[in-house]
Amino acid sequence: DADHLVHGFVPLHLQKDKGIPIFVKGQGIYLWDTEGRKYIDGLSSLWNVHVGHGRKEINRAVTSQMNQLAFAPTLIGPTGVPTVQLATKLTKLAPKGLTRVIFTSGGSEANESMIRLVRAYWKVKGKPKKTKFITLNQSYHGTSSGAAALDGIALFNDQVSPGLPGVLHMARPYCYRCELGKTYPSCKIDCAQELERMIKREGADTIGAFVTEPIQGVGGVIVPPKEWLPKIREICSRHNILMVCDEVITGFGRTGAMFASAGAGVTPDILVSAKGVTSGYLPLGLMLFKEDIFQTFLDTGDDYAFWHGYTYSGHPTVCAAGLANIEIIEREKLVQKAREQGHYLEKKLASLHELPIVGDTRSKGLIAAVELVKDKTTKEMFPVDLRLAQRVWEKALDNGLITRVAGANNIALCPPLIIT
Ligand code: PLP
Repeated sequence: DADHLVHGFVPLHLQKDKGIPIFVKGQGIYLWDTEGRKYIDGLSSLWNVHVGHGRKEINRAVTSQMNQLAFAPTLIGPTGVPTVQLATKLTKLAPKGLTRVIFTSGGSEANESMIRLVRAYWKVKGKPKKTKFITLNQSYHGTSSGAAALDGIALFNDQVSPGLPGVLHMARPYCYRCELGKTYPSCKIDCAQELERMIKREGADTIGAFVTEPIQGVGGVIVPPKEWLPKIREICSRHNILMVCDEVITGFGRTGAMFASAGAGVTPDILVSAKGVTSGYLPLGLMLFKEDIFQTFLDTGDDYAFWHGYTYSGHPTVCAAGLANIEIIEREKLVQKAREQGHYLEKKLASLHELPIVGDTRSKGLIAAVELVKDKTTKEMFPVDLRLAQRVWEKALDNGLITRVAGANNIALCPPLIIT
């Protein structure tokens, strides 16, 4: 590993000097490494193994599909049966009104597809100047060039700037450290109003879409007040701006609803997801969008095609894994379980507030974060060079619990939905 493999998000020296576990087995919520050490997979590996490890049903579905037909080129027309079945299933599970599906191989690719869809849509609508995107500070949408340009985390852009122009970032619904210096609820969710101010400043005729994670994951598990997403929906509609929910982490039951946007009572115009759709057994991403976007393209003329996609879009074997995975989520009522276990997790997290270094805990369903502070009263952070969250992460790993540092001062938890 240290001699040849490059892990994108691991400081090169950490891998070289300390070494990284290599896993050889997974079962349920547990993983085992080459040294025989057992871990609780407290992050569902990478926020994605919803149904836990070692599920034979997915193995059987994949094997059976491979024996029949491993691949079909959906991009140029001919497709496979599981691809059609999964597309149909997704439109039934998604927030009402999202009727069209484009498959990709992951979340970043799905955001690339989304950027191109937004641009293409406004061109067809005769508004080619609507090219800008607004996203949140510290947001994460992937690391391919377009997706990374949407990221509010500078780390993913600074090494390779300049990126896609016309991306604006705005304050998050982060009540513990309000970026507008306000206090909830007297703020009347001014962070949502910030979108309206930004639209007025930039001009609605220059903005294509507002893109948001319904709950920010990598940026520190930021759970907004319940009025925030509906308010954002209302502002986007009023100003004729497409609303995009990036549900790569929050999709497929993670937050106690099949999709977090639907859980908040909102239907975005475009929904991007990945991860939990196959629980990571095979790589798959997707973009769902409204019928009237599709109809707009359809009305353009006989020769119109959305010139975008990938060789592996709608890969039948991968889609078979997705169908088997969703069947498990439904049969074992994992969405409901995430909600119930989420209440328990929330209660247990609250008890951590006794610790002198715990400033805040946040959760929704089975995604959570513990925010570490030097001083609980002033919310002063630990100096960066102390790498405190990193050290807590390392200590947990030494004790057999996998977590993740999300944002400089947060420990994220995101266990498989099957956890008891
Ligand atoms: N969007 C969000 C919200 C994510 O959390 C991630 C990955 O963590 C992505 C997009 C990128 O997905 P992928 O790593 O599959 O490209």
